[in-house]
Amino acid sequence: MKVGGQVDSVKVIPVKVPQVFPFPVQPAPQGWGLYLHIPFCERKCPYCDFNTYAGLEEMYERYVSALVKEIRRVGDVLGRPVVRTIFLGGGTPTVLSPQGLEALFRALNDAFAVQPNAEITCEANPGTVDRSRFQVLHELGVNRLSLGAQSFVSEELRFLGRIHDVRDIQQAVDAARSVGFENVNLDLIYGLPGQSPHAWRVSLQRALACQPTHISCYALTVEEKTSLARWVANGRVPPPDEDLQAELYMMAQDILEEAGYVHYEISNWARPGRMCQHNLIYWRNEPFLGLGAGAHACDLRRRWWLERAPHIYIRRVIGDETTVVGWEELSSQTAMAETMMLGLRLLQEGVSRSRFAKQFGVDPVVYYRSVVARLQAWGLLEVLPDRLRLTPRAYTVANRVFVEFL
Ligand code: SF4
Repeated sequence: MKVGGQVDSVKVIPVKVPQVFPFPVQPAPQGWGLYLHIPFCERKCPYCDFNTYAGLEEMYERYVSALVKEIRRVGDVLGRPVVRTIFLGGGTPTVLSPQGLEALFRALNDAFAVQPNAEITCEANPGTVDRSRFQVLHELGVNRLSLGAQSFVSEELRFLGRIHDVRDIQQAVDAARSVGFENVNLDLIYGLPGQSPHAWRVSLQRALACQPTHISCYALTVEEKTSLARWVANGRVPPPDEDLQAELYMMAQDILEEAGYVHYEISNWARPGRMCQHNLIYWRNEPFLGLGAGAHACDLRRRWWLERAPHIYIRRVIGDETTVVGWEELSSQTAMAETMMLGLRLLQEGVSRSRFAKQFGVDPVVYYRSVVARLQAWGLLEVLPDRLRLTPRAYTVANRVFVEFL
């Protein structure tokens, strides 16, 4: 301040401006898919390598507060952008208290322009839900549930270290229906060591008896640094048998298709019109935001990822620091390869040639001429006037097809 021509020494108090993204984020005119990660579970399943932790109950409240703040500051910096889908995943979002879930949804609706017809999914573990928890979710606007059923055979659930039993799955589905959920997915795992085709048929049939709108079937895989990996390494458990897994996969195809489910993605079946809209955003290589510890995001120009450790994530948000810990610029070559690899997972839709050409200025059949010719000759790829898609013969060897585009 100038007083009588003198300049007083001015004390500058640093104001910390929250830095949300260390780079400019491209807008998503069609709207974002929004993923929220809840990194908590009651118990860690031995096969799971997701960014999720057991025994952190005392952190739940602080994590929700941090996530609320993150939702608000991201919405703010992006100008309250349009959101087409929301997916609460984890982890087990249903371990959070009703107050915690309410706080998250209040922030979401304040910070983002959630489309009125947005698909809003919440993952749930059949061992952590009851009618009242579903009631809360339904009232908050959740319109799709994804239940981690995994198996309808008690010994298999025990092997998988699940906290629920078979009866809990049916009760969870009934409770969900009783409060108004029509759109329910069941996740199943197949290819457990020693699993018989009969046992897999039992799980599929009992899943169908629950009349879900959507079923996801994942092959058991041995992920590094999991308990299952240790058991396999020390011989306590045999490694999954790939031939058996292929046989069980084909059984699922027959049984689910006969029951009227459309096999629309390599691991996913849906009643007509009930495909998972959120996951379609990933498979169509469209922009998505991820919030919460370890979440990933992509605006098509770059991909970025957030701090994985929940306690550091909280500390960064509280300290007004960015939670972004890494990013990668996407070259058009990478973006094209990813569009192919993701789009070919969609078994009916495949990769739209016109959409690809509009985005990258070239027909994928022209750009990938030699790869396409090779895959066609092997009987693994179908070239249609408007799209490229896998042939049924490719479904069990899809990963071998995808690497051809790298
Ligand atoms: S409940 Fe799901 S997310 Fe949690 S440890 Fe088990 S498999 Fe992983």
